[in-house]
Amino acid sequence: MIFFIVQFSRNPTANGVGVDLLKGGIMKIGIPKGLLYCKYHPFLTTFFTKLGCDVVISEDTNKNILDAGVKYCVDEACMPVKIFHGHVASIKDRCDILVIPRIMQLWKNEYICPKFCGLPEMVINSIDNLPPTISEPIYATSQKKLYNWAKAAGKYLGKSNNKVRLAFHSALNAQRDYEEGIFDKGYEVNVALIGHPYNIYDSFSNMNLVKKLNKLGVGIVTGEFTHEDTLRDVAKKLYKKPFWTFTRENYGFAINVAKEKIVDGIIYVSSFNCGPDSIIIELIKNSLPHFPFLILKIDEHTGEAGIDTRIEAFADMLERRTRIESNFSTHG
Ligand code: SF4
Repeated sequence: MIFFIVQFSRNPTANGVGVDLLKGGIMKIGIPKGLLYCKYHPFLTTFFTKLGCDVVISEDTNKNILDAGVKYCVDEACMPVKIFHGHVASIKDRCDILVIPRIMQLWKNEYICPKFCGLPEMVINSIDNLPPTISEPIYATSQKKLYNWAKAAGKYLGKSNNKVRLAFHSALNAQRDYEEGIFDKGYEVNVALIGHPYNIYDSFSNMNLVKKLNKLGVGIVTGEFTHEDTLRDVAKKLYKKPFWTFTRENYGFAINVAKEKIVDGIIYVSSFNCGPDSIIIELIKNSLPHFPFLILKIDEHTGEAGIDTRIEAFADMLERRTRIESNFSTHG
């Protein structure tokens, strides 16, 4: 994985628009702060900024964005996809061109969730009066493939090959310099926080879970600190290797962190209606039947009080297991 594979598919209605808009001044490129923006924003923002564009980013997720997402998106979608729609709605009138990353592959022979593959179509057919979009498929399995995407996006915006090449390398460097992940130190009780990145790092979606756990005296470790080879080796032991990248990584992280006794428990943050999560959660439960494991399912109707009660009870149980009864039941 170069870091992520991007291939933007051009909205047919957008052909030639980039060059035309440039004639009128600095182009405003809108990037919604939803889904994998939390992971790949250094690349995207640096690339378009270095191309000389103004980058317009939506606000952090908030109630207005969630409400707009629920309004525009189909009911059956998971909450992160609804939230992405809300981010689009919040910036569509403030940009000349919208980026809707259609992220297909990060690693060879694996894919991202199908909802990513069809994300541009979902958005374009749900929200009226959108500006032209850059939405070509992104394949980030090699630098060359990612560069192909960059060339297509740059050409669309009327930029020279040389400018695109320089912007691309700056963007890659920005992504490589970006340090992601949480590895708390100094806590007596620690949990692995597992889930898709947008569920872990969007504090509005997960109702400030990270801060709440820290306040309860619970340290957090996320999967970015486990080597890719380890995640891959663990998943190989399954009867069939998971087809979806984040599913494989989450499974590998959960099993490794429990077996190596790096944490005292696992909290899995999952979106209601998430197909990949419904499989991997069962696999983790089957592989770790006696390890403390809390599943938090979130959607737009989830009440904060319910989340608070569950994490308090889980933290309390872990604390007792750690300090008082080393073999305390995982069921409380
Ligand atoms: S992996 Fe799950 S949460 Fe993520 S977009 Fe797909 S269905 Fe939604």
